[in-house]
Amino acid sequence: MSSTQCKNLVVLGATGSIGDNTMDIISRHPHRFKVFAISGHSNINKLVSLCQKFSPKYVVVSNSSLYKQLLSLINTAGIKTKVLVGKQELINICQQPEVDMVIAGIVGSAGMEPVLASVKAGKDLLLANKEALVLAGELVMQAARENNANIIPLDSEHNAIYQCLPDDYIVGHTPNDLDKIILTASGGPFWDRDQSTFAQITPDQACAHPNWDMGRKISVDSATMMNKGLEIIEAHWLFKLDEAKIDVHVHPQSIIHSMVCYKDGSVLAQLGEPDMRIPISYGLGLRDRITSGANLIDLIKVGKLQFFPPNYQKFPCIALAREAIKIGGTAMAILNAVNEVSVDAFLNKQISFSAIANINQQIMQQADITAIESVQQLIALDDEIRHLTEQEIKKKVSIHA
Ligand code: NDP
Ligand code: MG
Repeated sequence: MSSTQCKNLVVLGATGSIGDNTMDIISRHPHRFKVFAISGHSNINKLVSLCQKFSPKYVVVSNSSLYKQLLSLINTAGIKTKVLVGKQELINICQQPEVDMVIAGIVGSAGMEPVLASVKAGKDLLLANKEALVLAGELVMQAARENNANIIPLDSEHNAIYQCLPDDYIVGHTPNDLDKIILTASGGPFWDRDQSTFAQITPDQACAHPNWDMGRKISVDSATMMNKGLEIIEAHWLFKLDEAKIDVHVHPQSIIHSMVCYKDGSVLAQLGEPDMRIPISYGLGLRDRITSGANLIDLIKVGKLQFFPPNYQKFPCIALAREAIKIGGTAMAILNAVNEVSVDAFLNKQISFSAIANINQQIMQQADITAIESVQQLIALDDEIRHLTEQEIKKKVSIHA
């Protein structure tokens, strides 16, 4: 599977935190990787400086209203990169014949169609955008099987599991000789905090993760522990496992990134600094280990590694995710949509931190769950649940005004 031939990359979400880490590794291996295209949504200044540094053939700005501004900045700077705009170009660029690998670093359901397009074109997909899998796991995995596309998880937990499976393991199959997997969780910034004070938590407090430096949406998900719920769903699709085979251990040190428990009683774990360049470099190397810039862990300094069971009562979002897997069909897509809107409302100071889980629970109970039929159905459902959630939030805000 691995090869040292120079790879043409599309980096989706190049302006974000996954984007930063990916571009950092690419810059360390100029003979190994060539940037074919990058994308961003709002940060056009960063797109310009990335074009200056990496000279991609194309830059895609998904937010159409920024096209002219970006074009003018690129022209003024004398950069040769061609500027493309909008969602359809994001999809097209992933399917170009020159492309070897797509790095999916967009946040939220906006990443679903480019992810599906990459897999349908049989590209190597390095997947950070967990929401795409939560929303459309069934369709993505089916398309991967049909088109022999290789999916490599970048999420640190799933990448750790992937590293602990045999080298010939292909994502989408239940691993041989496996008893269960254990996803580790840092517990987020409020693991020890008294639940009665959750309503007073501010967006900045929720985004101050103790161990990882990430985008704002995933940081809030870590604080509610919905992130672990989404990751259980992600693992369910990637490794074809029942929810009951996916355990969670809270491990506040974030040194063991996850574990595979085999039938003979052996447990394999992947350890390392909490630095996303480690899983991303393993993906970019297609299982070859290439330098990532991350420091080697000093276990003597770390001293102790602790493990605790998750508190489902304090963090009900994990249980919601387990329930959504058991129900199946569109339940996971609904959970993803309501959560994206409630997190956004919290970040915009419309609702309290504790309201995120309440709204997620309420909409899950209200919504009609059906079988998954098509991408169009999922796009329409995503819109519908977003609208429903926004209406519920408006009602709550007007009651409290
Ligand atoms: P960031 O918020 O830092 O970056 C998000 C990226 O997506 C940016 O490039 C942003 O563009 C782009 N984007 C935002 N909205 C849209 C849209 N509507 N259409 C197209 N592009 C859009 O997030 P992260 O990098 O932290 O996370 C990215 C994904 O990776 C998430 O799914 C997250 O769960 C997952 N992940 C992240 C980890 C991390 O360490 N950060 C760890 C594990 C998983 P712009 O900034 O220009 O607006
Ligand atoms: Mg993770």
